[in-house]
Amino acid sequence: MTQLLQDKDRIFTNLFGHHDAGLEGAKQRGCWNGTKEILEQGRDWIIDNMKASGLRGRGGAGFPTGLKWSFMPKEVGARPHYLVVNADESEPGTCKDREIMRHDPHLLIEGCLIASFAMQAHACYIYLRGEYVTERLALERAVKEAYEAKLIGDKNIHGWPFHVYIHHGAGAYICGEETALLESLEGKKGQPRMKPPFPANAGLYGCPTTVNNVESIAVAGTILRRGAEWFASFGRERNVGTKIFSISGHVNKPCNVEEAMSIPMRALIETHAGGVRGGWDNLKAVIPGGSSVSLLPKHICDDVLMDFDALQAHKSGLGTAAVIVMDMSTDVVKAIARISYFYRHESCGQCTPCREGTGWMWRVLERMSRGESEISEIDMLLDVAGQVEGHTICALGDAAAWPVQGLIRHFRGEIESRINNYRAGKPVFVSQVAA
Ligand code: SF4
Repeated sequence: MTQLLQDKDRIFTNLFGHHDAGLEGAKQRGCWNGTKEILEQGRDWIIDNMKASGLRGRGGAGFPTGLKWSFMPKEVGARPHYLVVNADESEPGTCKDREIMRHDPHLLIEGCLIASFAMQAHACYIYLRGEYVTERLALERAVKEAYEAKLIGDKNIHGWPFHVYIHHGAGAYICGEETALLESLEGKKGQPRMKPPFPANAGLYGCPTTVNNVESIAVAGTILRRGAEWFASFGRERNVGTKIFSISGHVNKPCNVEEAMSIPMRALIETHAGGVRGGWDNLKAVIPGGSSVSLLPKHICDDVLMDFDALQAHKSGLGTAAVIVMDMSTDVVKAIARISYFYRHESCGQCTPCREGTGWMWRVLERMSRGESEISEIDMLLDVAGQVEGHTICALGDAAAWPVQGLIRHFRGEIESRINNYRAGKPVFVSQVAA
């Protein structure tokens, strides 16, 4: 039987309805409680506990957060250290960081202070998605409150001089890639950098920098208050903690919800999103982690767990935990063609496989969705996707290839039948509507 997360173990308040997102409300919920004592335990203690908690980055890649913090140089030389928070939440289907910034901005600011102290940074930049105006206002309000209460600033009650700067992006998806984000923050065109060097050695302005996702930073205070063991008690080995899932598409109640990692997909959708429109049997496929991962057909969704390893075992991924549900009425070929258009539009154009490949995949898929192609082009499309995957400067190339590969892996028959239908003069796609 599935163990659901209890309210007392939820870090965020996105399930609690109306509440005070300001400083007083945040304090009543535990934020800023004992922060000084946490810092007094020292940097090694903080990083060791973050490692022990098992937290893996919540931005999509799933890299262990404590380990990432430990990569920063131990000594601060002539180059200052920086923390950069990636709040450029643009992955289609994903709106979890939005909830944190709207409803729990102080948890994020407190996490910024703790992480910056652990990595000896006196400044933190929060790079915010261009469209997130409400979130910027909420964050600015919270930052002002934190300065006024001397929780942060040059002389603050925590004894670590610390400043937070909010930087509003201009709406480019690629600026969510950490090195493109750093370029943009420096006032340049947002294009990914070659790695190495990695940001921990040469990041913002060439200085040691750690870039973390909003959720990864905002959980830090609670983890250190309640203990690494508490956080690690949810989920299963290598896939622990609580996690915010964004559930959208053909469900009865689209929502953001914080649940225990490794919850079965079906339980997640049925418990929190009111189930699939028309019932579970009306499910066709689910994209489990934002548009950059492979969609999964129903028979896999029936009992797959929502975590990094379980989804990777099916050549998909947890990604940003944006769960996009598609019922039987969905034209999956058209849906993936639309996603391909997105990547073609957002490619920065630096590398040939991505610049040319994303456009090529989109155009072929568009034709395929109308049935206007050859059966042999399916394998050719797969070949092109394979040429893009792993051959580019940043992960956008992989993100463009994986949904296409997933479509062919699981729905090749659907592509073939529409090509045959087109030749036979029949409707290429007939939507099956059950509800
Ligand atoms: Fe730009 Fe695409 Fe290359 Fe990334 S993979 S650097 S988005 S062209």
